[in-house]
Amino acid sequence: MFKRPRGTRDLLPDEMKERRIVEAILRETFERYGYGEVQTPTFEHLELITAKSGDEITDHLYSFKDKSDRKLALRPELSAPTIRLFVNELRNRPKPRKLYYFENCFRYERPQKGRYREFWQAGVELIGSSRPEAEAEVVALAAACLENVGLKEYGLIIGNRGIFRAIYIHYNISEEVQNNIFNLIDKKDLQGLLSYLNSAEITQEAKSFVLKLLKVVENGSFGLSELENALTDETKKIIKSELDDFKELLSLLEVFGVTNYEIDFLIARGLDYYTGMVFEIFAEGLGAQNQILGGGTFSLVKLMGGGELPSCGFAFGFDRLMLALESQNLLPDSSAVPKVFVVPESRKMLNRAIEIVSLLRKDVACDLEIMGRKLDKSLSYADSEEVPYVLIVSKEAEGDSVILKNMRTGEQNVMDIREVSDALR
Ligand code: AMP
Repeated sequence: MFKRPRGTRDLLPDEMKERRIVEAILRETFERYGYGEVQTPTFEHLELITAKSGDEITDHLYSFKDKSDRKLALRPELSAPTIRLFVNELRNRPKPRKLYYFENCFRYERPQKGRYREFWQAGVELIGSSRPEAEAEVVALAAACLENVGLKEYGLIIGNRGIFRAIYIHYNISEEVQNNIFNLIDKKDLQGLLSYLNSAEITQEAKSFVLKLLKVVENGSFGLSELENALTDETKKIIKSELDDFKELLSLLEVFGVTNYEIDFLIARGLDYYTGMVFEIFAEGLGAQNQILGGGTFSLVKLMGGGELPSCGFAFGFDRLMLALESQNLLPDSSAVPKVFVVPESRKMLNRAIEIVSLLRKDVACDLEIMGRKLDKSLSYADSEEVPYVLIVSKEAEGDSVILKNMRTGEQNVMDIREVSDALR
């Protein structure tokens, strides 16, 4: 017996059917918002991945050297590859470019419920705009996806890094220190942030401003009113344009019909290239790994050598979305079992049964008795598989007529083969 590698899963027919139904809904929703699908390689140059996520990510990668000593890695996410594709292939096309992907990713992480070493992401990148209406449309798309797949119990949390970046720049805080602060805030490690601030090379003024912000968030929430309370007249001026844009985004979001969100400036996303709005979605019923989506506005294009071009996007963790639907009892009604099982009453009727099954397959998922079982054995097999209908090809039913048995009610009807498709509907 061989076991599958740790952190991976085998997905069986019923589960795959459910996944494909939800996948189709997400794809359709992305396309209705004007996104076109792209596909990138399963592995990329290691440098592409470290350029985006820093060298620390190598501990969490499946990386290797190929036979020509190239350093490669299985993709841990799809944002960097998609932006690389944009810079390589589409940078001269009119803006915006709206791209979506639906692919597997690989991370060497400690597996647990909702955290796998191979998992799927469904995401979008809107490249070329970070205007409030672009950001609002991206958030509205994420909400539309959840509406269309039917997920009800979830929390949408919106934050903004741009506002804080403006303040940090004003206080001459270096990019490195800014990113460390954002990382600690994102981990909600306020104690760690306090000790970091004591050792970091920043001015006393900057330190006391960040400390003041921390005081504000001690009660655990950090929305617009807490932010406005913490600001001095001077800092209010510095962040005016970012804050105005953020408020504009919120009011446009309402026009898009999205009102069920919370603002939390403690959502900072760990990664350094986020520049403006950031958002996350959490689902009920998932335990510790309950974040089903992460996204925001970022400057990845520049990082990939494509010049200054804002973009915004998100990635759903598809497996977690499926777990959330399952735990909220909202999985689509699906079965991988065919609708009808065609059984020749005897070997003599096999050719006729094959002709019939071939005809029916133009319309409906249909299986054929190919184990040579007698009728009663075939019927009990169909029963155990929960096939809803059995079509018996019997010499007693003359000409083009067949016997259709409804396995649920036990009702049995003789009918013309041309009527079967309609009867199955
Ligand atoms: P990230 O690229 O880290 O922002 O992740 C985006 C989304 O992918 C997260 O919100 C999760 O839902 C999902 N995700 C990340 N890592 C894993 C994993 N190891 N297993 C399953 N889903 C994951």
